[in-house]
Amino acid sequence: MASLLKLTPSPLLSTSNLCSFPAKTPTWHPIPHTFRIKDRQIAQSSKFDSFLDLEPKSKPESLNFDIPWFNQADRPKFDVVVIGAGPAGLRLAEQVSRRGIKVCCLDPSPLSMWPNNYGVWVDEFESLGLEDCLDAKWPITCVHINDRKTKYLDRAYGRVNRKDLKLRLLSECATHGVRFHTAKVWKVNHEEFESSVLCDDGTELRASLIVDASGFGSTFTEYDKPRNPGFQIAHGILAEVDEHPFDLDKMVLMDWRDSHLGNEPQLRASNSKFPTFLYAMPFDSKLVFLEETSLVSRPVLSYAEVKRRMVARLRQLGIRVRAVIEDEKCLIPMGGPLLQLATQLFRQWRLALW
Ligand SMILES: Cc1cc2nc3c(=O)[nH]c(=O)nc-3n(C[C@H](O)[C@H](O)[C@H](O)COP(=O)(O)OP(=O)(O)OC[C@H]3O[C@@H](n4cnc5c(N)ncnc54)[C@H](O)[C@@H]3O)c2cc1C
Repeated sequence: MASLLKLTPSPLLSTSNLCSFPAKTPTWHPIPHTFRIKDRQIAQSSKFDSFLDLEPKSKPESLNFDIPWFNQADRPKFDVVVIGAGPAGLRLAEQVSRRGIKVCCLDPSPLSMWPNNYGVWVDEFESLGLEDCLDAKWPITCVHINDRKTKYLDRAYGRVNRKDLKLRLLSECATHGVRFHTAKVWKVNHEEFESSVLCDDGTELRASLIVDASGFGSTFTEYDKPRNPGFQIAHGILAEVDEHPFDLDKMVLMDWRDSHLGNEPQLRASNSKFPTFLYAMPFDSKLVFLEETSLVSRPVLSYAEVKRRMVARLRQLGIRVRAVIEDEKCLIPMGGPLLQLATQLFRQWRLALW
């Protein structure tokens, strides 16, 4: 680590492409059941034939936590500047600062709750010492390959309590002196003996090493060839339902069955070309997270079609959605050329979460 920091001009390291996503993997096994919906406003409807007209009422949440802020006067130069306070950026900042390295983490909204519903393999999270940040576990994961064949994986899957995880990482960052600054990075400059970032509020920060943890939409990552990626696209809902058919001790990693498209010739034809699967985390008999996912397609499958397939699937499974608590759209570039050398270095440096 120390020798890495001595590299000048510093390489721009990237944490994107590090996660083993889609690691979406398996039936809610309360940890105990700490999942909380009591404070949320929930969109409700008396119509049960389609959930698409239900607007989730949950609003983006901001965390009430006291973090140490960057002050121009006290530290003109850092050892490491981390761009992005997502899971990867915060974990990296926390791990690096434990070793006495001076870190500043930049994000347009460092205290916002992360928007995505995260699922992870329990053993991987345990090995990171983060098992306290799971709010549900399923001992078995299953994959429905078709109507006749189902595979059971003897590997536990968990749902991340993203509030607990973010608070834990922020707290450890604060303990180890990480400074935070609310800004979007516009530009990264590399000079002979140091690098710097220029932010949208005019702040310029200098550092020996800049780490790009701004996610898959990074504008700083360089590729050595033109990029024409495929895309993963998914629509997910955390839903209150009248009933569902899932076992509570099994998480459905992938349900590839297509019999629900029997009366939908157009959807069936396009599903043969670009198939989608259902990912389901049953929390209890009335609460379930459901996501219809196209693993990868080029060009990207239409979002409206993903939703239509999900409506047909839920109807056949007998799932009537009473209320949508949260929804999420996933659109992630997949594949394409490799990163340039400086960013590739980080592939071997597995400090990120996923
Ligand atoms: C709907 C959805 C569901 C997902 N589910 C899973 C899952 O179940 N399991 C899984 O492993 N992965 C999942 N993923 C993939 C997920 O993106 C990553 O696992 C994880 O969020 C990556 O973390 P990250 O910190 O690299 O990036 P992000 O979470 O994208 O965080 C990047 C941060 O950088 C900030 N930022 C961006 N640009 C700048 C800038 N110019 N200057 C300063 N800050 C900037 C952003 O505000 C953000 O806070 C999902 C993704 C989506 C969209």
